[in-house]
Amino acid sequence: MNVKSQLSTLKAYTPGKTTDEVKREYQLDKIVKLASNENPYSCSPNVLKAISQTDTLAIYPDGAAVKLKEAVAEHLEIDQAKLIFSSGLDELIQIISRAVLIPESNTVMASETFSQYRHHAIIEGAEAREIPLREGVHDLDKMAAVIDENTKLVWICNPNNPTGTYVPKQELIDFLDKVPNDVLVVVDEAYYEYVTINDYPQTIPLLDEYENLLVMRTFSKAYGLAGIRVGYGVANPALINKLDVVRLPFNTSTLAQTAAIAALEDPEFIEECVIINTNELQKYYQFFDQQKISYYPSQTNFIFLRLNESSIENMFQQLLEKGWIVRKFPNGIRITVGTEQENEELLNVLKEVIPKI
Ligand SMILES: *Cc1c(COP(=O)(O)O)cnc(C)c1O
Repeated sequence: MNVKSQLSTLKAYTPGKTTDEVKREYQLDKIVKLASNENPYSCSPNVLKAISQTDTLAIYPDGAAVKLKEAVAEHLEIDQAKLIFSSGLDELIQIISRAVLIPESNTVMASETFSQYRHHAIIEGAEAREIPLREGVHDLDKMAAVIDENTKLVWICNPNNPTGTYVPKQELIDFLDKVPNDVLVVVDEAYYEYVTINDYPQTIPLLDEYENLLVMRTFSKAYGLAGIRVGYGVANPALINKLDVVRLPFNTSTLAQTAAIAALEDPEFIEECVIINTNELQKYYQFFDQQKISYYPSQTNFIFLRLNESSIENMFQQLLEKGWIVRKFPNGIRITVGTEQENEELLNVLKEVIPKI
């Protein structure tokens, strides 16, 4: 079959072992999966109520997501024309890549960062210029330095997945001032709600000044709606109009739109989850400090442990055999912050595991 030759260099996304697979393989009764940065407290009860009252599944969803657009525009205090919705940010990454990248062009991103930026660049036949993180943080000077006349797109994951680190406000502004204004800069704010630090950039107000800026947010993480698939982009209306050409007509479902609106109506749910998350992160920090395990301070609902190759394999495997699924990367292990009880249990398990790695 004549598929694009570059597809042979890529693999379909593998989410890791499922809970059932691990249960069977290690004969365990209980598995805790802290591998995908989902909200351990699920979602607002508002959402479950709203979707259970939906009675219109036989007809197509509102392709323009009019009501959701109104709700998000009000939430962000912006013009509705600045919004595009997608079936999660994964789809928005695909839409942007498809709209912007051509063969021979390039896109600049960090490494390690969210894997889908590179994935879609390669599918479009573009080059992915990956600039290593500096102490876990985007190296914006180096990223600016590799931009050339073929650069169409820059990805900044802020806070970054998998490290949980962030680019401070002034650094982002200095970078935006350096980037040519025909190069699109996408800031992926999937963990926006969890950020507590003061000098984190508020990007929505920057959109008027930088027409080449696009901000991405999602309902999958703090809002606890990963299973229903809805996210959005915010940018200047001319760019949004172009991206809408690429977007599939009915890309967000009726249930997804209903769920997202209901989620926005319960800000207290998010506030509570964020308070607990911030507290729980402190417990992890304290523990890893005691254990002399190096980590990056996190502005998200996960924590990244900096380990050598053999420790990574060792810790991952021992946790798996005890029923704990985390995520491994070339330079460390990422643990999603669970419920208070899950974290307490995990810290007890880690007490046994760490001396053996
Ligand atoms: C989880 C995640 C996404 C994808 O989120 P969906 O909206 O569920 O597709 C995008 N970017 C980052 C950095 C993420 O961690």
